[in-house]
Amino acid sequence: MKNYGLATVAEFLGDWVLYRNLQPCEARLPRLEQIRSQLSLPNNQIPRKSEREYAQIVVQFLKHAYHLEELGGKIERLIFVGDTRLLDGAAFMNLCAAGEWPGIAFIGAETHQPTEAQITAVGASQTIYQTNRWASLPDFDQFCRAQGLPVEQGAAVVIDLDKTTLGARGRNDKVIDQARVQAVQETVAHLLGSAFDLAAFRAAYLPLNQPEFHPFTSDNQDYLAYVCLILGFGLYSLEELTADIRSQRLTSFEQFILQVEERRSELSPELARIHTEIYRCVQAGDPTPFKSFRRREYLTTMQRFGCLSEDEPVERYLEQEIVITHEVRKMALEWRERGALLFGLSDKPDEAALPTSELAAQGYLPLHHTPTHAIGEI
Ligand SMILES: [Mg+2]
Repeated sequence: MKNYGLATVAEFLGDWVLYRNLQPCEARLPRLEQIRSQLSLPNNQIPRKSEREYAQIVVQFLKHAYHLEELGGKIERLIFVGDTRLLDGAAFMNLCAAGEWPGIAFIGAETHQPTEAQITAVGASQTIYQTNRWASLPDFDQFCRAQGLPVEQGAAVVIDLDKTTLGARGRNDKVIDQARVQAVQETVAHLLGSAFDLAAFRAAYLPLNQPEFHPFTSDNQDYLAYVCLILGFGLYSLEELTADIRSQRLTSFEQFILQVEERRSELSPELARIHTEIYRCVQAGDPTPFKSFRRREYLTTMQRFGCLSEDEPVERYLEQEIVITHEVRKMALEWRERGALLFGLSDKPDEAALPTSELAAQGYLPLHHTPTHAIGEI
């Protein structure tokens, strides 16, 4: 593994990036509202990555981007690069269906022993290429050509950002999670002030983050941060909460926040204010309702971008920085050179990826424009 120096995601993706709100970073693209009305989709909801509507919207952006880049002809095939078989696999299939394109997806996740790539036909003309080496991207490129889907003019390449382009799964992904957990902890500590108890916070966060409680938390980190805040304040005890979930007296987060709403008068004024803000967002269907937590996550994430000096051992970057996957960067640059369209998708909430106007005035940049080290095998 080698350090290839500082780079940015924008070096190869430019502003062809969509974060969770599906509002394009590139100013020349139409706004989400326009795309939704063209597709006759309901105008108040932001579909999630695995949903059909998400793919329908992204396909429209891809077509606009391909045209704006003046690449010639039109999109004839879809290439996808991601890190999770289920979620990225579903997004890939939906994109191919919405665009009526054949396609091939690369799914990478590094494990110790390199093994042969697993190739699975998942549709009439859709294939998933699953591998445990990010360094097998050049083999994947050859595979695409051999399948008659060369990555050049006529190809749209959709590249996942989270744990693919940044914080590669199996190699550097834990640092992304550390940034998020630190943000939850700091947000709760800040709101509880002297009442914050770190040991109690950990004792609540760690078990509630486990799959056993996903039916309750929907594996939503905003919900989990809010639950930890309410527990830290002492409105409920952890034992009481877990017993209620296990006995199914409490089956959803929505039910929990409604119970807190009914006991609102027992909260401190500061906590009541935050609770109301989150409660309103949840009522409005916002999947990222805890805005102050996500803004703090932007900062804890930025702290891990390019934070180490040069000439550190490679392992140290992988442990402490969120780094660019050099294999993805190198392949992407080559694909762009060959005339393919590159487009980045991220499931990160916009609040955790883009600076507020105050921070932008201080020089903070969007995640994809912030330099960090590029590390990789090739
Ligand atoms: Mg990912």
